[in-house]
Amino acid sequence: MGTAHLMYGRKEKLDKVKKRQELIKEAIGFLLRFSGILWVIRCMFCRNKVTIMVYHKPEPETFRKHIAYLAKRYRFISLNKLVDAIRNKDWSDIPPNAMVITIDDGHKTNYELLDTIKTFNVRPTIYLCSHIVRTNRHFWFTATSSATPPLKRLRTDIVEEELRCELGYTHTKEYPERETLSKSEIIDMEPYVDFGSHTKFHPILPQCDDARSRDEIQSSKKTLGELLNRPIEHFAYPNGDYGEREVEYVKRSGHKSARTLDVGWVDVNSDPYRLKAIGIQDDASVNILCGQVIGLFGRLKYLRHGSFRGKRPPFL
Ligand SMILES: [Zn+2]
Repeated sequence: MGTAHLMYGRKEKLDKVKKRQELIKEAIGFLLRFSGILWVIRCMFCRNKVTIMVYHKPEPETFRKHIAYLAKRYRFISLNKLVDAIRNKDWSDIPPNAMVITIDDGHKTNYELLDTIKTFNVRPTIYLCSHIVRTNRHFWFTATSSATPPLKRLRTDIVEEELRCELGYTHTKEYPERETLSKSEIIDMEPYVDFGSHTKFHPILPQCDDARSRDEIQSSKKTLGELLNRPIEHFAYPNGDYGEREVEYVKRSGHKSARTLDVGWVDVNSDPYRLKAIGIQDDASVNILCGQVIGLFGRLKYLRHGSFRGKRPPFL
């Protein structure tokens, strides 16, 4: 049997496993949605907590369905409002069942979400990579697909050298197609969206040396601040990977908050530089969304990788 045949067989098997997992998630989500369990959880456990959702590049129609469903059950607030409440230790302005929508990376299709954002008054925060948006540069993780998880476990300088030699990829290489928002799109969205920083080039920060990690955090804030002509106050750790060093750099660079991918809700005692969140599958059905919005599927996924209490396993 040839290698190609074996690889095809393996892919087919993986697809089958994935399909089965999706069906199980669909069934659990359906039960949660129509049994009233979600309502009980919202009333008993998260009424006075805030849910921060994390999207990347949802299709406009899927995003609209999600937001329409959530709008009936949660109250959208801006990240600014949440972070002010935590920093002032004053929860009086936070409504019950409050929710913040965040979107990572600044993918170009985010622009098509604007209608839904306006209709439902969502006021999301979109975290941008300052040196990729407005250009035809690509993210390193889209330049390579199959090797991504192992690459995340390597030092950034080694990964970059490998990508350059194997694929001719560099951060500053311009491609015919852009992947991210253009300058005019960012300016158009600004009245309805808050923009935060997500580094310059989206490296795995704990895999960078001190100088690189500091520069990625500081320079992205500065560059985006110059672009938008106002201070950039919020940061999100790329891939959800961070250490004490990154928390310190984010604080020192003048950000007011940093969002992680650790699963959980936020309350008045949360650390603003380690905000927990709920990752949402961009193409989730509304049933699957119901299992994700309470952090159930996220926690189970992290548990499978040996991590407890919703803490994101490193370099996942
Ligand atoms: Zn990201």
